[in-house]
Amino acid sequence: MVILKILVINAGSSSLKYQLFDTEQHLVLAKGVCERIGIDGGHIKHTPTGKPAMEEDNAMATHADAIRRVIELLTSTVISSMHEIDAVGHRVLHGGAEFSGSVLVNDDVKAAIRRCFPLGPLHNPANLTGILACEEAMGNIPQVAVFDTAFHQTMPDYAYMYAIPYEYYEKYKIRRYGFHGTSHRYVSAKAAEFLGKDPSELKIITCHLGNGSSICAVDGGKCVDTSMGLTPLEGLPMGTRSGVLDPAILETVMKNENITDISDMLNILNKKSGVLGISGISSDFRDLIAAKQDGNERAALALKCFTYSIKKYIGAYAAAMGGVDAVVFTAGVGENNATLRAEAVEGLEFMGIAIDEAKNNTRGTVDVTANGAKVRTLVIPTDEEFVIASDTEEIVRAL
Ligand code: AMP
Repeated sequence: MVILKILVINAGSSSLKYQLFDTEQHLVLAKGVCERIGIDGGHIKHTPTGKPAMEEDNAMATHADAIRRVIELLTSTVISSMHEIDAVGHRVLHGGAEFSGSVLVNDDVKAAIRRCFPLGPLHNPANLTGILACEEAMGNIPQVAVFDTAFHQTMPDYAYMYAIPYEYYEKYKIRRYGFHGTSHRYVSAKAAEFLGKDPSELKIITCHLGNGSSICAVDGGKCVDTSMGLTPLEGLPMGTRSGVLDPAILETVMKNENITDISDMLNILNKKSGVLGISGISSDFRDLIAAKQDGNERAALALKCFTYSIKKYIGAYAAAMGGVDAVVFTAGVGENNATLRAEAVEGLEFMGIAIDEAKNNTRGTVDVTANGAKVRTLVIPTDEEFVIASDTEEIVRAL
């Protein structure tokens, strides 16, 4: 089967983001987002490539309604019929230990995504809703599920095991899973390509730094450790997420603040913590940089906590792998902010890591390594949607 056009879907509980790819020409034909599905104030923004964005208020009762409208928008702007779409690729947050790669969706896969609901209670039900909505709106079109966790399934047990009673792992599957797997997989492979080496020869640390941030140790092309855990809450301090902390803090805060429901506490750790929590200003790194420049000390502290944590993970993962050949920065902050990149590796010259200031001030895929530094430091833009489209193409092409 010749695959030409693939619709990539990222379904949230009340939203649906989409991109239509022409894989033959390596083009994004259109992208957009449907918001407030199933609630008042439904809204769609549709952007056909090279044409002005279209916005409309549209009450969408279900995700299937949203998909049907997306197809109308696509057929009125960039394709002539729904039948031009060959396959759909879905971002699915949590594949638990069930999936170590992308798969064609069938009844077993849907059941397995459902089994992972307890591990990804906010995202997995929405991701499955997106799959079912496409079935409803597009008939039996081939669909592929691409999991955020899959790339990390190669971690050894001593890296994914938490030191709590073992039966919790057995009964409730509590272990490290890791996220942003499509991004870590993509940028680590691109780094090997950039360096002209086979991935099997390289030890790479990939730093995905955006609103959500995670770091991954990739040894010989395989993930051996990563900073996010059972959920995307662990690891670095993020925009609004706390990252790693002493679990006993929960009891102290709950007692003192009269918080009786653990989900309220988790809401604080997920939505009110991270650099927003420390600074009290914003979760957006650009706002924090501006505030720091204006002399705001808490914004400066939040940024320092962030870059210090990145540095600690780089050190830890170099130790875990017994060395490092390349450090890769990607995602919103990692791709765009030279200062934070420089701060994150400051003082790591002893490990052979150093950034050249002039090279660091360029954009795109760039080698920012200082002359003489043994470890290559690269900036590589991530493209998770592209990975979903190409996995989908590969799987459906083989049918
Ligand atoms: P992402 O989650 O990958 O889309 O990244 C979003 C984050 O990247 C936001 O916190 C933005 O503030 C941040 N970001 C984008 N551009 C820059 C920049 N030039 N400097 C610092 N942060 C940036």
